Amino acid sequence: MFLISITITIRNLKILFSKTIVLLMGVLLLVVVVSCENQNPEKIFFGKDYCDHCHMTIADHKFGGELVTIKGKVFKFDSLECMKSYEHNHSELSPFKKYVVNSSLPGELLEAETAKYLIKPDLRSPMGGLGVLSISKDSIDKDLNYKTWNDIYSNIDTRVNK
Ligand SMILES: [Zn+2]
Repeated sequence: MFLISITITIRNLKILFSKTIVLLMGVLLLVVVVSCENQNPEKIFFGKDYCDHCHMTIADHKFGGELVTIKGKVFKFDSLECMKSYEHNHSELSPFKKYVVNSSLPGELLEAETAKYLIKPDLRSPMGGLGVLSISKDSIDKDLNYKTWNDIYSNIDTRVNK
């Protein structure tokens, strides 16, 4: 009788142990999934942060952007030329989520693919390239000729920073 009782207790402990392991594995998986989905941008500290491509200080509030890896690592840039060059040179880290500064609201970052873009021929980017202002899709002026991210990014000339 005593022996049977011990056997049952050991069996219960084994079941409890295996249930705990399954639960812990589930929690671990959830943590991994949640951390993988964090592709949020980080605030750019203008005048303090450095461009991850050209290593110059990010100073102009109208220009810049970020690339964020699936693991959540953030790379900051002072211009779209640098961002595109970095993406090209570090394809092993892709796919990136892309963000651009809101040119009309200093400090705010916009998702690159949903933002709208205005080409300003009288402006130059910090790298001497095309002056492109990025604007939230919610604050566009209907009379202006906005471009999409694909229009802009495919035409960014990375030769300006070589
Ligand atoms: Zn740069």
